[in-house]
Amino acid sequence: MSKLLSNAINRVKGILGADSTSAMLNPDPHIIPRDQHTISRKNISDAALRVMTTLRKAGFAGFLVGGGVRDLLLGGRPKDFDIATDATPEQVRKLFHNSRIIGRRFKIVHVRFGREIIEVTTFRGTHEQVEQSPKGKRPQNQNSAQSKNGMLLRDNVFGTVEEDAVRRDFTINALYYTTADFAVYDYTSGLRDLDEKIIRIIGDPETRYREDPVRMLRAVRFAAKLNFTIEKNTAKPILRLAPSLADIPAARMFDEVLKLLMSGYGADVYKLMQQYGLFEPLFPQTQPCLQQPQANILVEQAIKNTDARIQQGKPVTPAFIFAALLWPAVNERQQQLVKERVPEIPAMHQAAQEIASMQQQHTAVPKRFGIPMREIWDMQLRLSKRGGNKAEQMIENRRFRAAYDFLLLREQAGEPTDGLGQWWTDYQDRSPDQRAEMVAAIKEHNPKRKRKPRKKPNADNH
Ligand code: ATP
Ligand code: MG
Repeated sequence: MSKLLSNAINRVKGILGADSTSAMLNPDPHIIPRDQHTISRKNISDAALRVMTTLRKAGFAGFLVGGGVRDLLLGGRPKDFDIATDATPEQVRKLFHNSRIIGRRFKIVHVRFGREIIEVTTFRGTHEQVEQSPKGKRPQNQNSAQSKNGMLLRDNVFGTVEEDAVRRDFTINALYYTTADFAVYDYTSGLRDLDEKIIRIIGDPETRYREDPVRMLRAVRFAAKLNFTIEKNTAKPILRLAPSLADIPAARMFDEVLKLLMSGYGADVYKLMQQYGLFEPLFPQTQPCLQQPQANILVEQAIKNTDARIQQGKPVTPAFIFAALLWPAVNERQQQLVKERVPEIPAMHQAAQEIASMQQQHTAVPKRFGIPMREIWDMQLRLSKRGGNKAEQMIENRRFRAAYDFLLLREQAGEPTDGLGQWWTDYQDRSPDQRAEMVAAIKEHNPKRKRKPRKKPNADNH
């Protein structure tokens, strides 16, 4: 076989994967004309429409793609609009003065219109199949880089729209719409899967998960969000490959956790994460504690409460959800230290410090959330110390509300707190006089320190 031909076959295999039963590249797209689909310009943001028009006027293609098309076809409201084009990032940058190129691993252009940002992505092409050289070193190229286990470290190889379609994650995310002819272009039978409510990865599942393990998290996220089923071959390798999530940079993982657990359907996502072994690589310190029913209930309840708050339009903060997700580990470590005779407050500090810093290797929690997370933990012990002025000072603390909600959560999960939550609930309702009575009525558990008997001055020492 000629080298050229075998290279070409390898390239196609790369696109389709070794076992290409999942989703086929369809070089002739299924084109759905404007009168046969439900997407209307009215439901697309002006900013996204303007980007498409400007690109077209400059002689480039501009397609709405991804969640924008998917959610519109499902009758929902897209979270954001992503545009794919054949213009390079530099060409896009020149067309929009309010734009900037971001990312290194995966260059894209952000075009800003007031508060809205439109992400413009150049069509991605196929990476050359680089063979392992005898020394095991892979030749690296400026635009494309892959780790030894198949992870894509850089993806700036540009291509055609057909190639772009098969580099996307799931068939339902690879539908293209353009205002050039108002048609929907379907290269991977995404419309059929949308209709049948199926999450199907494009190409060989294992290859695609190795290229980017985050796709496993995206599979469960979309399954939960859309109430779709993960297709059999798409689901099969996840449990086995889930540990490869450990290789993803911790900052990206933090962002993914927020999308998974703070979008309003966290309870369903969490169930699937547990089912597919995807929680453990993100929270390895918490997972073993979940053997205990109390810890398990606390984590599930925190996620349910977050979903409910989002539904009610109440604010939610990553500090609270991370405080809850790590609490079982902090609590266990603190108790262990207390058993080793460390006093309870320093034990809490040490446990918090150890667990939080270890977690940074998995999900890098930015300081603006990490600090309040630790304050929530810290205040759990302080909430029981209410004598003198302490209760009044506590209620003035700007973290009181979060710490109090956290205390209620612990009680909901069955942690013994001796009715402390109810006490604080009442306290907040009472007048200053009644509050003073409540404080006076507390018999704080405050064992008098045993004083060491003073040594009598020993005359012999003088
Ligand atoms: P939503 O914005 O509602 O979370 P989305 O599908 O738009 O969902 P984005 O993260 O905005 O998701 O990505 C936009 C599109 O880019 C996706 O629909 C998909 O086509 C592609 N994409 C995103 N992440 C990946 C990935 N890790 N691998 C392959 N394609 C991806
Ligand atoms: Mg999107």
